[in-house]
Amino acid sequence: MAGARRPGRNFLFVPGPTNVPERILRAMHVPMEDHRSPDFPKLTLPLFDDMKKVFQTKEGQVFIFPSSGTGAWEATLTNTRSVGDKLLASRFGQFSHLWIDLARRHGLEVIVQEEEWGTGASPERIEEALRADKNHQIKGVMVVHNETATGVTSDIVAVRRAMDAAGHPALLYVDGVSSIGSIDFRFDEWGVDLAITGSQKGMMLPAGLGIACVSQKALTQMKDATCTKAYFDFADQIKTNEGGYFPYTPALPLLYGLREALNLLFEEGLDNVFARHRRLASGTRAAVDAWGLKLCAKDPKWNSDTVSAIMVPEGFNGADVIDRAYRRYNLALGAGLTEMAGKLFRIGHLGDLNELMLLGAIAGAEMSMRDVGIAVEPGSGVAAAQEYFRGAQGAGEARLAAE
Ligand SMILES: *Cc1c(COP(=O)(O)O)cnc(C)c1O
Repeated sequence: MAGARRPGRNFLFVPGPTNVPERILRAMHVPMEDHRSPDFPKLTLPLFDDMKKVFQTKEGQVFIFPSSGTGAWEATLTNTRSVGDKLLASRFGQFSHLWIDLARRHGLEVIVQEEEWGTGASPERIEEALRADKNHQIKGVMVVHNETATGVTSDIVAVRRAMDAAGHPALLYVDGVSSIGSIDFRFDEWGVDLAITGSQKGMMLPAGLGIACVSQKALTQMKDATCTKAYFDFADQIKTNEGGYFPYTPALPLLYGLREALNLLFEEGLDNVFARHRRLASGTRAAVDAWGLKLCAKDPKWNSDTVSAIMVPEGFNGADVIDRAYRRYNLALGAGLTEMAGKLFRIGHLGDLNELMLLGAIAGAEMSMRDVGIAVEPGSGVAAAQEYFRGAQGAGEARLAAE
């Protein structure tokens, strides 16, 4: 079929799955092996320890499921809660919405605090609700750290402070699927009780691993939790993980991929990884400013360093920009979801990414916007991002200075 091939790279700039680096692709190219062999724990035991470094925890216990992030959501709730338990959740985007929906389908009663999309969790309102809950009926507070649908990061430190100020014993459940491994996330220091992530975002892998970190306090609540679980039962994992095994067949290539992903993160240094994401996000935001457009995030304090949701002007459809980018320029941008459908497009800037790759996406978004009639100045976003990247003290400059 002549003409069917699209030469060059597909520019993958949805906020997950993200680019899988060559080293990880090669590391996953392995023959199958016996997952009950005496050698297998040499691969697996360090994965648990090293994932703890990514969650920045000493006390937490890590679980690795063959699932996407959604499976890890399910695991954390069903292993610690009973049908009818009350949870408090902030809803401000499609992912916080889906998490609430999943909890309800498991028979949990979720008290929802609606926040405007483009903002995030309100520590003040959380504190107020917890103070009013004198009998401690609320068993958990659910917060999406980085709402991928709107490009909003919530302040988990402030949420924990609010919970402590209210003197409330509820557990803190945090969705870190699009933050962990890209944005600073401190499980122990922030007093998080259950955190989850998936393999296909900051961890730079294909989808297929759902990863959870659980505090000792949360683990003690397992014995009273009556929600139905089988495949995701922590108890089965704990029994087998201890020796480096799993209760069922693990996703072998993904575990080898995870080994290499952790190597990459540690070789760069987690602090440098976070700084790089901040730098790439800031360059993207400079481009959005230069285009004269607005982010979905209502205030700089909500800005996400992993995804920018860019509002298209009145009278235009974000879906047209995305369609044009994909068909004409082989660039995949993220769509607006539900409430935001058509109103925005998203540039994911997380995972294995550098300045010049991102400039390609910014250039493609700029061309696509102009193609559908949005009057952004040609080259304006690219130039603003270039100048930002030239000035920003980055790993590249640090390396040059060291030579
Ligand atoms: C991607 C994402 C999820 C869903 O994860 P899956 O791996 O698709 O199941 C959940 N929460 C957030 C914040 C996400 O970005």
